[in-house]
Parts: sequence; structure tokens; C-alpha cells
Amino acid sequence: MAAITDIECLRFNYESSLLREIESRLGAIPTISQMQSKNFLALRKRNLLGDAMLISPDLLPEVYEIYSNCLNLFGSNLQGNLFVRQSKEYNANIFSHNQKFDLLIHSALLEDFTSNELSFVLGHELGHALLGHSQVSMLELLSLTEELKPGLISPETKELMFRWSRTAEFSADRVGLLCCGQLESAAKALFKTLSGLSGISIDRILNSFHTQYDILEAQMEKCRNEQSWIGTHPMVPVRFKALELAALDIIFFRNQSSVFSQRGFRKVDQKISSILFTLDKYLSACNEI
Ligand SMILES: [Zn+2]
Repeated sequence: MAAITDIECLRFNYESSLLREIESRLGAIPTISQMQSKNFLALRKRNLLGDAMLISPDLLPEVYEIYSNCLNLFGSNLQGNLFVRQSKEYNANIFSHNQKFDLLIHSALLEDFTSNELSFVLGHELGHALLGHSQVSMLELLSLTEELKPGLISPETKELMFRWSRTAEFSADRVGLLCCGQLESAAKALFKTLSGLSGISIDRILNSFHTQYDILEAQMEKCRNEQSWIGTHPMVPVRFKALELAALDIIFFRNQSSVFSQRGFRKVDQKISSILFTLDKYLSACNEI
């Protein structure tokens, strides 16, 4: 399979429009400096070498192969290490600086996730690196600014920053799907992360996601009509819906990236943007009550 050198087209359109809005409010997209980013990568690596295990082909050949396959898919100069740390929580995180990164996964993922599910998780994390999400660290920037100059960033801009952080997850999911190449594995990985359950058939998982998303949609309507409460952002069912809508295009892109038509994909993108925009609108309306 030919390497995919440009994944910018997978960046969720809503993410780009939120960034533009934040830029217009603050005068620039808030990014950490090259020096801060370089220092943080070095500090994080020192910490990881001390309190996590570096995964080598010798230690875990199968896991290393899944990781290498994901990395090779992008054929770029992206270089980094994979670490594992003991934790029962299904989680992973990455920090990148220019083309370098370090990726940490929790041990529970290696124990409970299949190869393809792991490929989705690793691809998701690499997506954050490829799309430069580490540099636009909104939440860190927000807490730092609040500490130094409380009240400098308006509540509306803060809300936009939170929205951006959530939306970046949707873009990263697309890269995850690009790596694992199957909606089913991506759905299973999201399901396991959310529920902690293994051994449920894919049909039941897909049905449950559909049902939960439908209930959520009805809840959004209710919220609009009766000003009831949604609670927190229902990230995972919406992330599943977004992946499902984009899956055919992403898998086509994986197989034939050179002839991929962005026109059709942008329509899907618009549909997901509108779901998220509506959800964000209702959520902020609900939270004001
Ligand atoms: Zn993420």
C-alpha cells in the first residue's frame, strides 16, 4: 500500500472553523513556542524512561509490529517511541514536537484490545501528532492564562477552546480508522473504552451505539423544547456516529489516497459539523439554565 503523506484533508472541518474563530477573537491561534514544545518533549521522555517501559520489537514483537504498521502508513519522517505503563484504565496519550513524538499506552489496552482495536487507538494518538494538536494546547494555555491574568479570556472564548479540544478528538479518530481500516474495530475500541466490557458481538455493539445516539438526539430535541438538562458532552456515542458517517470515505482514502475526492467527503464533514454544532448549542443553552 502506498504511503499516505498528507492527512490534512481528514482534519474535521468543524475543528478548522473553531480554530479560525478562536484566532479571530485572540488575534492568533494560541500555540506553545518551539522552545517550550522541545523542552516539554525532552522532559516527558526523561519521565517516561523512568516510570514506563519502552516497547521494543524484542519485548513485544506483535505490538511493535502493529505500531510500525501504523507509522509506516504515513511514510513520513515522523519518529518516536512507544511506551507502556501499568494502568487498568483504557487510555493513551502522545506529545509531539515537529516530527518527533513519544506515545504512552496503558497496559490494560495491551491486555484487552485486539490487534485491530489497538491499531485504532495508536492511529488516533498518531493523528494528534500528525495534525499538530500538541502545539495548540488550549486547555493548558487556558489554565496558565487564568493563573497569570484571571478573566483575560472571555467565557465565550473559553467555551470555544473547550469545543476545539473535544473536536480534535473527532479528527484523531479519523486517523485511527485510517490505521485500522475497519469501522467494526474502531467501534469495538470505543465501546470497550466507554463500557469496560469485552466479548460483546459487533452487531450488539453497533445496535447499542445506534440506539444510544437516537436517544441522545431525542434528548437534544427535548432540551430545546423543554429546557431540560443533557449533562456532560456525550462524546463517545457522537464520536461513533461521526466515524460511521465518514467510514466509507476514510477506507477509500486508505486504499486509494491519490484519487480520493474531497468533494464527497466534505458533505459528510458538513453533516457531522452540523450535528456537533447543534449539540454544542444545546449544551451551552442547557448549561445556562
Ligand atoms: Zn485523543
